[in-house]
Amino acid sequence: MKPLGPIPAGYAAIDGELAIGGARVSQWAEQAGRTPLFVYSKELIAQRFADLRAAMPERLKINYAIKANSFAPLLAYVSTLADGLDIASGGELDMVRATGFDLGRVSFAGPGKRDAELEAAIAAGVTLNLESEAEAERALAIAARLQKQPRLAVRVNPDFELKGSGMKMGGGPKPFGIDAARVPQLIKRVHAAGADIRGLHIFTGSQALNADAVIDMQAKVLDCADRLAREAGVTLPKLNMGGGYGIPYFPGDEPLDIVAVGEALEARFAALPDTLADAELFIELGRYLVGEAGVYLTRIVDRKDSYGETYVITDGGLHHQLAASGNFGTVVRRNYPVAIASRFIADAEEVANVVGCLCTPLDRLADKAYLPRAEVGDLVAVFCAGAYGASASPSAFLGQGPAAEMLV
Ligand SMILES: *Cc1c(COP(=O)(O)O)cnc(C)c1O
Repeated sequence: MKPLGPIPAGYAAIDGELAIGGARVSQWAEQAGRTPLFVYSKELIAQRFADLRAAMPERLKINYAIKANSFAPLLAYVSTLADGLDIASGGELDMVRATGFDLGRVSFAGPGKRDAELEAAIAAGVTLNLESEAEAERALAIAARLQKQPRLAVRVNPDFELKGSGMKMGGGPKPFGIDAARVPQLIKRVHAAGADIRGLHIFTGSQALNADAVIDMQAKVLDCADRLAREAGVTLPKLNMGGGYGIPYFPGDEPLDIVAVGEALEARFAALPDTLADAELFIELGRYLVGEAGVYLTRIVDRKDSYGETYVITDGGLHHQLAASGNFGTVVRRNYPVAIASRFIADAEEVANVVGCLCTPLDRLADKAYLPRAEVGDLVAVFCAGAYGASASPSAFLGQGPAAEMLV
């Protein structure tokens, strides 16, 4: 038997069945007309924003990194709650544009921005988080051609990283950002070229659950930003401090203590250096805002035994939930929180492997999980599916196509 990850708070049962958004999951599946299906809860997203804002200094602004989940209705909803949106491609710019969100509150990070993407962003007044000196020169040339003052921030590759984070995005050689030592020079260059300097972006990692690590990282980010601004001889209108707040996915994971993180930030904000005194201060989060607010529902189409083990075979799989299968940035495969949604409060009585319908041994949703006995037709729920599920899985694999999605 292998343990399952913790089911996030906020999920209840109605008539013994998992409920989300006030209705049984089978009702949502019926309404969608098919499975697999992602269901995202507005109520849980709103609650998450409210809890976060209550814990954080009032001055802190919260951006949503839309790559976590860009399902149009969800994006439209989150854009009413977030202070800004962070994008990482021209395609994401188009998605944000479609919501009618103020593009002046959008920033565009990510390596390998093509000229057409730079042009669309500059024309729209989006802030570019520059990832290299060469990108800066291309942006300046495009802006000159458009006769538009570009809004430019510099993404820093700092000389530290977010300890214990699931995915490191700073510290040492990286494709992201510009090595800290070269940043002052670049700020001077784009300033001299007449750009509207929008400050710095320092993102150091993702999926951190340890408050001390986050507090330490945020302190270093503030120190680093101050040092670079002083060396460049500017004050910063904006500082995007990154984020990296994680959510519990696996057995033994504990939620991040955002109250502790907020208190530490409050103390730092009370004593900011001159370079940051008037800065707008941001964090940018993806999974923390929406990850726990979504469930992936898939229906059991077969059950079988093989050499003494039970297999429950669903109509879903890694083509929608790559991360839950253990194939998206994990070294050792561990179980996500998974439940038999249609028997949510039934007692566990068998050990089963929950797999998808793809013809590959990688397609696993839960290994040796202790679950209620499930039959063909039952619904399986994979939790923590609100982020990096639909948007980060290879839905074209094996001709399966995308899952249905609903915001309720
Ligand atoms: C992916 C990404 C995020 C969001 O990461 P989460 O782990 O979902 O919070 C934020 N900022 C940048 C620059 C990113 O690339």
